[in-house]
Amino acid sequence: MSVMYKSTRNSNDTVTASEAILKGLSDNGGLYVPDSIPKLSVDLNELAKMNYQQVAYEVMSRMLTDFTEDELKHCINSAYDKKFDTPEIAPLTRRAGANYLELFHGSTIAFKDMALSILPYLLVTSAKKNNVKNDIVILTATSGDTGKAALAGFADVPGTRIIVFYPKNGVSPIQEKQMVTQKGDNTSVIGIIGNFDDAQTGVKNMFNNKALAKEMDDKGYQFSSANSINIGRLVPQMVYYVYAYTRLVANGEIKAGDKINVVVPTGNFGNILAAYYAKEMGLPIAKFICASNENKVLYDFFETGVYDKNREFILTTSPSMDILISSNLERLIYRIAGDDSAKDVELMNALNSQGRYEITQEMKEKLSEFYGNYASEEETAATIKRVYESDGYIMDTHTAVAATVYEKYKADTKDDTPTVIASTASPYKFTRSVMEAIDPSYSSQSDFELVDELNKLSGVKIPQAIEDIRSAEILHDTVCDKSEMEKEVRRILAI
Ligand SMILES: *Cc1c(COP(=O)(O)O)cnc(C)c1O
Repeated sequence: MSVMYKSTRNSNDTVTASEAILKGLSDNGGLYVPDSIPKLSVDLNELAKMNYQQVAYEVMSRMLTDFTEDELKHCINSAYDKKFDTPEIAPLTRRAGANYLELFHGSTIAFKDMALSILPYLLVTSAKKNNVKNDIVILTATSGDTGKAALAGFADVPGTRIIVFYPKNGVSPIQEKQMVTQKGDNTSVIGIIGNFDDAQTGVKNMFNNKALAKEMDDKGYQFSSANSINIGRLVPQMVYYVYAYTRLVANGEIKAGDKINVVVPTGNFGNILAAYYAKEMGLPIAKFICASNENKVLYDFFETGVYDKNREFILTTSPSMDILISSNLERLIYRIAGDDSAKDVELMNALNSQGRYEITQEMKEKLSEFYGNYASEEETAATIKRVYESDGYIMDTHTAVAATVYEKYKADTKDDTPTVIASTASPYKFTRSVMEAIDPSYSSQSDFELVDELNKLSGVKIPQAIEDIRSAEILHDTVCDKSEMEKEVRRILAI
């Protein structure tokens, strides 16, 4: 069965998987969604005997039906290799009474590597399949982690260029250092005076700018996206939910067919949506527990059915979740509207013009599998300290938001279904916040002193990604106003 992808804002706009990956966003600003999700063709007990790469093939081949077996296996085996510091790729660890799915063993130590290490291969393969002659310009807005993971994935990939915009004052010092030291002749990194939503809006506007697209085409360029609006990000993210489930089967914690819950620290709603798609593929998931930080627009949405971004943007210690416009929620909205693109357009226009929309009662009823809650800054820090003191396990701030919300969920519902918590970053990526949570007196030390302290406390080897930036040279120092993003792109591409 072949899966086609259609735009959330125009059901007649239908493309193949490779075309959707190339385009990123559809012409009318909609997101591509699969027109159907096929069931897994292999039994869960069989999957439990497979390694990560084999599970990846079983999941991704169901979704990317215009890729040949050879093409897809080449992409998977090139991506999930020694770049990961563990052969399991995404190990599931049981600590302090919870199952943490560690998604941060890739080259930039955040879960974005799970998709962005394979996206360049998917994209280059898609370009070949569709006889694209232009160079592909990856335009990306980042709240900190996507930028570095995309830069690492696309650096020096022939036929591609990558331009990353990040909020100058909205990322952690280590995140910024990772990005501005990026090597590669085809890479550009720009700080903007504005927040992540400004960066994302600026990028979306450029994607929708027809005149710009024409000028680019004349010069032999076309845009694509490495953000989770690209379906090529979401499909690889479905894999690790299936993988985690089958590890629970393999270690005897559950039997194939038993239900599990997942807890996902959420920003742009990509990671949790991938879990939702995995369920549609047949993975037995009962609840999707959506964890927010103090930017709790999603919690309010699940409570009330009103999405309202008209509120203060809060800079927290989990910056990759500091987002008020969760782009991928549009894909869920379209689904709960019964694949009704007119309804989707109506709500997204309201979001654009008034900053808010309200879903119907009927749509709200379809959200019963979702549970939303949030963690304050104090609660997040307390969770890091508590789990460290009880178990010696040190988690990052984003994972701590999820762990906090999981505790609230259990207290609210008394539900004891086996649960997987998505652990989205290495604590080394947010060393300062993590160490200050454990003991505020660490605040007087430098970032790299704290890295060494974290190593002493946790006994976890310092990742190569951190060693690399200790002495790396700063190669990118451009800063622009949020209104000047297009000007910068034109300067970089000389158009
Ligand atoms: C991106 C990111 C998130 C949020 O994921 P979404 O798919 O945007 O919801 C959470 N934690 C970390 C560490 C991230 O980098």
